[in-house]
Amino acid sequence: MKTQLLVIGAGATGMGIARDAALRGIKTIVVDKGAIGSGTSGYFHGLLHSGARYVTNDADAARECIEENIILKRIAPSAIHETGGLFLAITEEDCNFAPLFYLACKAVGIPAEELSPDMVLAKEPLVNPTLKRVFSVPDGYINGKKMLELNKLSAEKTQTPATFLEHHEVVKFLKKDSRIEAVVVKDESGEKTIECDMVINASGIWASQIGALAGADIQMTADKGAMLVTEEKLSTAVLNRCRPPSDGDILVPTANHSIMGTTSVKTDDINTHVVEQWEIDRLIKEGSVMVPSMATTVISTTYSGVRTLVGSTASTARGVSRSFKLIDHKEEGMDNLISMIGGKFTIYRKMAEVAVDAVCEKLKIESPCATANKVM
Ligand SMILES: Cc1cc2nc3c(=O)[nH]c(=O)nc-3n(C[C@H](O)[C@H](O)[C@H](O)COP(=O)(O)OP(=O)(O)OC[C@H]3O[C@@H](n4cnc5c(N)ncnc54)[C@H](O)[C@@H]3O)c2cc1C
Repeated sequence: MKTQLLVIGAGATGMGIARDAALRGIKTIVVDKGAIGSGTSGYFHGLLHSGARYVTNDADAARECIEENIILKRIAPSAIHETGGLFLAITEEDCNFAPLFYLACKAVGIPAEELSPDMVLAKEPLVNPTLKRVFSVPDGYINGKKMLELNKLSAEKTQTPATFLEHHEVVKFLKKDSRIEAVVVKDESGEKTIECDMVINASGIWASQIGALAGADIQMTADKGAMLVTEEKLSTAVLNRCRPPSDGDILVPTANHSIMGTTSVKTDDINTHVVEQWEIDRLIKEGSVMVPSMATTVISTTYSGVRTLVGSTASTARGVSRSFKLIDHKEEGMDNLISMIGGKFTIYRKMAEVAVDAVCEKLKIESPCATANKVM
């Protein structure tokens, strides 16, 4: 097999890259060791961030989120529920944080508006009635599975349709001088060699493993987060606690349920999906400050995923930026390998645009990104 671009990983990042590259006329193959969306993109919280969650501690990530929030609502309306979001100030500490939060939203360009608690309680009857202040923001719910499907269909409908090889694990890079000439993948029938001009490593939390296989050093922090799904839908809008990012501060409504999350724990086990009892207890305790019936509601399921955070220096994972990083491995002797790491599902399209811009520059292709305006 032969292709111009080989993408490793069929999560939000890799699927976004496939669509972007295919729309620019680049022949693309995406390989994944599992099914499409079987990595972190299948185990996330579902929040289409407005950016407000990060606005006081990570303004760059917040700005990226609000820009992409607007674009995704426009290009993928069938994968987004425009629920809106609320930041609830319930305790005195929350009220002390509120002015800082509101000013930071204005500075970044997030349209936050203060609402009357009585009006919000009339629309959201399960919210804590001791609510003191409340702000609306344009949060939403992303149906992750649907979004990946839309990207796949869009990438397949182009003049140069992308190819998706699920259950094909990258096991080896074949290099000559300063180039990767081919990538060896393994499926149940054995090994296949795919010759390629460029490789993008979009393998999320496994990016440093792929890097090591190619001879590149990628520094990342692995951060596990747990979520609880309630049998009953507890709100119509996304509910956020009006305080700095912390455990149990977001409740996301899906079509029929609510998802309470998350925790944040540095981990060495990047394949883990374990949810520990203390995580369940903490999410219920924190969640019931926003919605008291969280303490008694039926939890239908629990799950967890592992975030890829860029770098490895901060002492706690909450201190590491939620932004993304493009790594050109030229310095390490591989002219045609780049890695795209970190970020959020909300900003996958932007991450893909930046990665494919880099591919175009290397392959001397002049073709602008078309993903921000073409509806899926
Ligand atoms: C607990 C938690 C909650 C989150 N909540 C939100 C949220 O509410 N909103 C939001 O915007 N973001 C959220 N995120 C972040 C978001 O989920 C991730 O940023 C995003 O899903 C990462 O996508 P990805 O494509 O980079 O990685 P992944 O989805 O992990 O995709 C990488 C793929 O690479 C494949 N792969 C690995 N090794 C190989 C190999 N050797 N060969 C072939 N394929 C390989 C894997 O199988 C996987 O499918 C959350 C993350 C976590 C952990």
